[in-house]
Amino acid sequence: MPEKLKQARARTEKLRALIHHHDYLYYVLDAPEISDAAYDSLFQELRRLEKEHPELVTPESPTQRVSGAPVAAFGVVQHPVPLLSLGNVFNHDELIAWQERISRLVPGEELDYVCELKYDGLAVALVYENGVFARGATRGDGEQGEDVTPNLRTIKSIPLRLNGDPPQADVPPRFEVRGEVYFPKQEFERLNAERAERGEPLYANPRNTAAGSLRQLDPRVTASRPLNIYVYALGWAEGFAPATHWEVLEWLAALGFRTSSLNRWAGSLDKVEDFYKEWLEKHEDLPYGTDGIVVKVNSLDVQRHLGVVGREPRWSVAYKFPAEQAVTRLLDIGINVGRTGSLNPFAILEPVQVSGVTVKMATLHNEDDIRRKDLRIGDLVVVQRAGEVVPQVLRPVIEARTGSERPFEMPKTCPVCGGEVVRPEGEAMARCTNSTCPAQLLELVSHFVGRAGMDVEGVGYALVQQLIKTGLVTNVADIFFLTREDLLRLERMGEKSAQNVLSSIEASRHRPLHRVIAALGIRHVGSETAEALARYFGVIDKLASASLEELTAVADVGPVVAQSIFTWFQQESNRRVVQKLKEGGVRMESRGIGTGPEALGTQLPWSGLEFVVTGRLESMSRGQAEARIKAMGGKATESLTRRTSYLVVGADPGSKMDRARQLETHTVDEAEFLRLLREAEQQTGAG
Ligand SMILES: [Zn+2]
Repeated sequence: MPEKLKQARARTEKLRALIHHHDYLYYVLDAPEISDAAYDSLFQELRRLEKEHPELVTPESPTQRVSGAPVAAFGVVQHPVPLLSLGNVFNHDELIAWQERISRLVPGEELDYVCELKYDGLAVALVYENGVFARGATRGDGEQGEDVTPNLRTIKSIPLRLNGDPPQADVPPRFEVRGEVYFPKQEFERLNAERAERGEPLYANPRNTAAGSLRQLDPRVTASRPLNIYVYALGWAEGFAPATHWEVLEWLAALGFRTSSLNRWAGSLDKVEDFYKEWLEKHEDLPYGTDGIVVKVNSLDVQRHLGVVGREPRWSVAYKFPAEQAVTRLLDIGINVGRTGSLNPFAILEPVQVSGVTVKMATLHNEDDIRRKDLRIGDLVVVQRAGEVVPQVLRPVIEARTGSERPFEMPKTCPVCGGEVVRPEGEAMARCTNSTCPAQLLELVSHFVGRAGMDVEGVGYALVQQLIKTGLVTNVADIFFLTREDLLRLERMGEKSAQNVLSSIEASRHRPLHRVIAALGIRHVGSETAEALARYFGVIDKLASASLEELTAVADVGPVVAQSIFTWFQQESNRRVVQKLKEGGVRMESRGIGTGPEALGTQLPWSGLEFVVTGRLESMSRGQAEARIKAMGGKATESLTRRTSYLVVGADPGSKMDRARQLETHTVDEAEFLRLLREAEQQTGAG
């Protein structure tokens, strides 16, 4: 083997081991040790080496998580050892009855147990061969499942290869583990909100969503979903005979599987009851849905002895949390006005206890959802909390109708500002058309300064309300023009808090471009789309002037999203806001480069940017400045046009300044230009 290839092979192996290790720390242990940037550079290096030496690509390489073309249908997998379903118990007496039944079958045996949470997801079986993930299937009917290997590979907490290099010597050559794939609750809410906005049918619960996401024929779709897994059992293994289930769980964790840190050994049934009570109270706070606990007899020998009855193992039982449904009256349907002007209906309910929590309100998503369910004001309705963050109204109790119930009418005018409400053709949401609607402004500014936006610490909902009421803020950019005096005039605002607010605002000026884009509140543009846009365009002006075709060329941007971005930047008022953000000192370009068409084939930080230098610079001649701009991939031109990204202003600038004001060109002084130049030169290693 040539020396160069040998070196490349050694390096790719090293990189894979490193990336595997950091994936494990990040996705399984939730304890990352290196920055995202450092991780990215390892990953990029591996990508590059594999591109140069395709013969070195292995299926378990971390670059190969999303691979394989869409399939027409899933293959069928026969489970060598069936995946059983569990019997249920619903209270302490039934739990004791279960124990008495099994105790009779193993007289004299001191039983101990393992308690686990019962995840609200989809059971899967993963087969490992020689330390590498070989095949994964859904539970199906327990005997036969669907081969969803390429989809399971996209879940980053599923190891493509086992820990250890090479994996521990005592690892069986072939074995199967079992676990539950789930969809995190918060992401579920977000996905459903997006689907409601687009008028698509909603997912009923996180379990269906997990199943729907895993059973996608195109693995790229699965990869875009935030699925995760807990591994909780060994299905079968060649030449491996642990004594207890607890030992199995520890062994699985050591191999790099994501097992739950909440699993608990219980020496008695009382301890099982303690575990149950504890999680009955706290399970709502978990980031994933659970509907009970699972109790397993710890000794595998006893498990074998107890065996299976029908399709249920005798040695394990699900101890369910109480049903999370209740019936109550739908008193009224209220309307929230969102930041995009959408009128979001919600149910006002007669307060009712649902699994220990008082529920007074529930989401109704949109008008069509209300019609589909035929909900009428005054109805008795079934309310459910099934692992969701927000309770849902499932259906009306039609038998209980008296005839006095009335159907819901979407208001014709905005309940906040009285503006006209329209529901555009083909859209699911009715909207307030008044662009100065205070409800929209409040939501928009709150979003802008919030965690998903510019993250301006110390500027919360209440402060935003005051700023709008006093007229200090009439659009999001006004935030950057607030003065100490402005703030001190507000209620409950002391010298010190004013100072804190101002320094948070100052800090937020330097947020990366994708944060700014996400903060603007453009419909359908969440943080992931914003990141893709920032990566692609690099500067806000390129995004603002992009055509529909250009926008749809960005990965993850479909026609609806592209149209929404395009329309947003077409609006004069929005363009003014962007200009004002610039004037307010907000950074509107990303560090580094856009990857758009103009930047292709080059890796220089200023590709696609146009500079005009006017006036006299102190630190270099005009010619030197132009040479350094070109060296960074930028274009230095004489005349100011709409395409100009920066006007660099030296001493005695002359008439170009007026033209720049007309064109709203971004101007920088010499100091700022030097700072940008240093930053760019550092990136290329030229500085
Ligand atoms: Zn309004």
